[in-house]
Amino acid sequence: MSTHTPPSAANVNSEPRVLGVRINPPAGDMTESSPAREVPSSSVPVPQPVHNDETEPTFSPVIETTDLSVFYGDYQAVRSVDMSFGMNMITAMIGPSGCGKSTVLRCFNRMNDLIIGARVAGTVTYHGQDMYAEEVDTIEVRRRVGMVFQKPNPFPKSIYDNIAYGPRVNGWKIDSVDDLVEEALTKAALWDEVKDKLKQSALALSGGQQQRLCIARCIAVQPDVILMDEPCASLDPIATSKIEDLMQKLASDYTIIIVTHNMQQAARVSDRTAFFTAEVDDDGVRHGRLVEMDWTKQIFTTPADDRTEAYISGRFG
Ligand code: ADP
Repeated sequence: MSTHTPPSAANVNSEPRVLGVRINPPAGDMTESSPAREVPSSSVPVPQPVHNDETEPTFSPVIETTDLSVFYGDYQAVRSVDMSFGMNMITAMIGPSGCGKSTVLRCFNRMNDLIIGARVAGTVTYHGQDMYAEEVDTIEVRRRVGMVFQKPNPFPKSIYDNIAYGPRVNGWKIDSVDDLVEEALTKAALWDEVKDKLKQSALALSGGQQQRLCIARCIAVQPDVILMDEPCASLDPIATSKIEDLMQKLASDYTIIIVTHNMQQAARVSDRTAFFTAEVDDDGVRHGRLVEMDWTKQIFTTPADDRTEAYISGRFG
């Protein structure tokens, strides 16, 4: 296996650093509880996710938000969201269209910085470090927190170069690019399908293969968190199933946050679920709000809030 060394590894000197900044002490474990409510039997049939067995795993936060709001110009799209995302867990964000799920997701790797007029208020921390602190290196943020989009977006390059690109532009010292490419494609469950055509254009792959290639490209720069914004929305059921299987495997190495409009998908793949809705507030304007966030099984069987119950039982949205 090759060695590939990210330049700003946390321990270049004795002082631990995150995102190029001296790290705060790690936050402790956190458990959450909430009052329970049974969902009526008319609700969507929900398969139990693999991760979501009787014993709840220990919760160790990687990304946390406090009083997070996002504005587009004068419009407050998301209002005062407090969330916490556990390490090596899959967290799904669900809710009706326009309630701010993608907007919130983009806060976690500072993608909203790239949208003119977008402004983030409140706090987002990554391993305790304020992600929006002035001294934070946004390139490092986006390496540590990778993103996969709704529509697969491979570069118009070969399969091989799609994977090798990130480590190369990051200027990593790489013993063997071949090994790095194989490792990333294997982790993304694509190696066996493409190993004999690595020099072919990535654009010739099927949609599902292109999406797994994008996941491999993300993995190649050694992220810690993978954000997925409706990653299966453009895929057929077989390709979707492959991505869902892959997510389950990746969760042992990465923290995954997925936005999905598909409740069954959230129930199948996630450990925890956050339910958002958009409501007209006292100011007469619609704002996205987090209604509740809990273990997926809890959300889909005994949610704490009536609005969650109404949504998952198909009464709105
Ligand atoms: P969801 O992902 O839940 O469908 P979004 O985060 O896409 O919701 O959108 C939340 C709100 O923010 C919507 O009212 C949407 O129109 C608005 N919005 C999203 N992106 C932008 C943007 N780039 N500029 C202005 N408004 C935006």
